[in-house]
Amino acid sequence: MIIDCHLHVKNGDYYRTENSGEEIVQALDKGGIDKGVVFAICTSTRESTDMVYKEVQKYPDRLIGFAYARPSYDRIVADDIRYALAQRNMKGIKIHRGETLLHPDVIGPVLEVAIEYDVPCLIDSGDDFPAISGIVERYPMLKLILPHLGSPSGKVFEIDKYIELARNHENVYLDTAYVPTYWKIKDAIERLGPQKVLYGSDGILVDPRTELMKIEVLNFSPETKEYLYYKNIARLLKL
Ligand SMILES: [Zn+2]
Repeated sequence: MIIDCHLHVKNGDYYRTENSGEEIVQALDKGGIDKGVVFAICTSTRESTDMVYKEVQKYPDRLIGFAYARPSYDRIVADDIRYALAQRNMKGIKIHRGETLLHPDVIGPVLEVAIEYDVPCLIDSGDDFPAISGIVERYPMLKLILPHLGSPSGKVFEIDKYIELARNHENVYLDTAYVPTYWKIKDAIERLGPQKVLYGSDGILVDPRTELMKIEVLNFSPETKEYLYYKNIARLLKL
């Protein structure tokens, strides 16, 4: 069993490209991947919920929807997130530092909804380590997945900070999506154990197979790969 924990219905690339459920499932099939977590960024929270819900409805056995929280000082989207979780079957929340402030006044209400519903937040740090470590300290009950081994830039010294953060905090996990310095996946697993790292691709702009191959060449044991590929995300999502 393989579950990709990081796929986009709408991407954060220059053209804000979109991927249909059909295209995503085809990409999963090529990689022998059973299921994928999907979300849409670069849009409002409400629109994102509508977009993702529509695609998940087509493939409810293959795609798992996450809500997208894009709050601002003027618009706290906690009610929209509540709706996405309660009425639209979203299983987690995506947040991107590039599109929203991680100040507690802005993101706090969303994180409180995540804790209330006991769903994970997948937060792209935008390499803003102080903001992420602030959230971790302030919300010890929050289940946090940090994509790209924490650092979207993939710089080794940045990734090391997030590995330490995950080592010191039980509820902090890292995903492997689109990590250029992919040997750090092995480093992360050696330092954290296999239960804190999740396979994700950032697909399908990034082909999920390339991200699987980064893991395969690191020669992990079958048991470690079981945690990476599905046991950790299944536990977090209560699948
Ligand atoms: Zn992404």
